[in-house]
Amino acid sequence: RAKSEGKSTYHFFEPALDQQARERRQTELDMRSALRDGDFELHYQPLYSIAEDRFTGFEALLRWNHPERGRISPLDFIPLAEETGLILPIGEWVIREACRQAAEWPEDVSVAVNISPKQFTYAGLTNTILQALSSTGLAASRLELEITESIFIADVEKTLSTLHNLRSLGVRIALDDFGTGYSSLSYLRSFPFDKVKIDRSFVEDLGQGGNSHAVVRAITTLADALGMDTLAEGVEIDEQLEVLKQEGCRNIQGYLFSKPMAASDVAELFENSASVQSSRVA
Ligand code: C2E
Ligand code: MG
Ligand code: MG
Ligand code: MG
Repeated sequence: RAKSEGKSTYHFFEPALDQQARERRQTELDMRSALRDGDFELHYQPLYSIAEDRFTGFEALLRWNHPERGRISPLDFIPLAEETGLILPIGEWVIREACRQAAEWPEDVSVAVNISPKQFTYAGLTNTILQALSSTGLAASRLELEITESIFIADVEKTLSTLHNLRSLGVRIALDDFGTGYSSLSYLRSFPFDKVKIDRSFVEDLGQGGNSHAVVRAITTLADALGMDTLAEGVEIDEQLEVLKQEGCRNIQGYLFSKPMAASDVAELFENSASVQSSRVA
């Protein structure tokens, strides 16, 4: 584009591009340091089962505590990590850390880990997961991998075989942010997912008279028919929860129940509920 606009324009934009490139390079270097210095942290958001009326799992969400810039949102660094390939070592850390912490939780509580497109196509992923499970002692059935629709752009045969390989380990696969990307209801039929996570954008305008109601109903109906679990993301108010219950959605995640919390708060949650139970028994 710069070229077609002529030489002078090109020179005009050059410093800005340089600046941007420098910032990206700096962030890349900072991500390397963060891995080395332990500046990444996982927060956990509860996944609530309507039928069981309890938290059956937690989604691990990456946090970066930057020494100068403070806490940086994953939305602001995961794309660059993905581009530079740094998502592989970062993602490996996330998988190990999530398994290590989840192994401390009650056995009927699982952990969900986000897997980026580059991680998904990385041949070493299966091995990373196997190692994390065996070194932490976490049962494979307690690990869920969240992948997004972007995997559908890739080779279908390859995507299918990766999904089958992962599921043969005993881990579960959830399709994250469903409805936002390249999705089509037919993907649900063709790929072996255990769970569909309905994107927050549909939940947002539930109860406001839009057509999201019908979308949610279509997704839960099809998922039910295919034997897949359903979860609605970003549930913030009671009205949304009520509609989701009516439409047969099975699980809920959102600020209505809890924001993502530090690992120590999850541990405390279990300690407290254990002491509530034992005090009832006593
Ligand atoms: P996601 O996987 O869809 O995660 C859900 C996001 O929605 C989280 O944002 C969560 O804090 C937010 N959320 C949950 N409930 C509510 C609600 O009721 N209202 C609103 N407004 N938001 C809610 P977060 O933690 O900022 O993460 C953003 C995205 O970054 C994630 O979206 C995921 O795509 C990515 N991400 C986070 N951690 C990792 C990771 O370890 N690896 C990879 N590859 N991606 C990650
Ligand atoms: Mg997710
Ligand atoms: Mg999501
Ligand atoms: Mg989402």
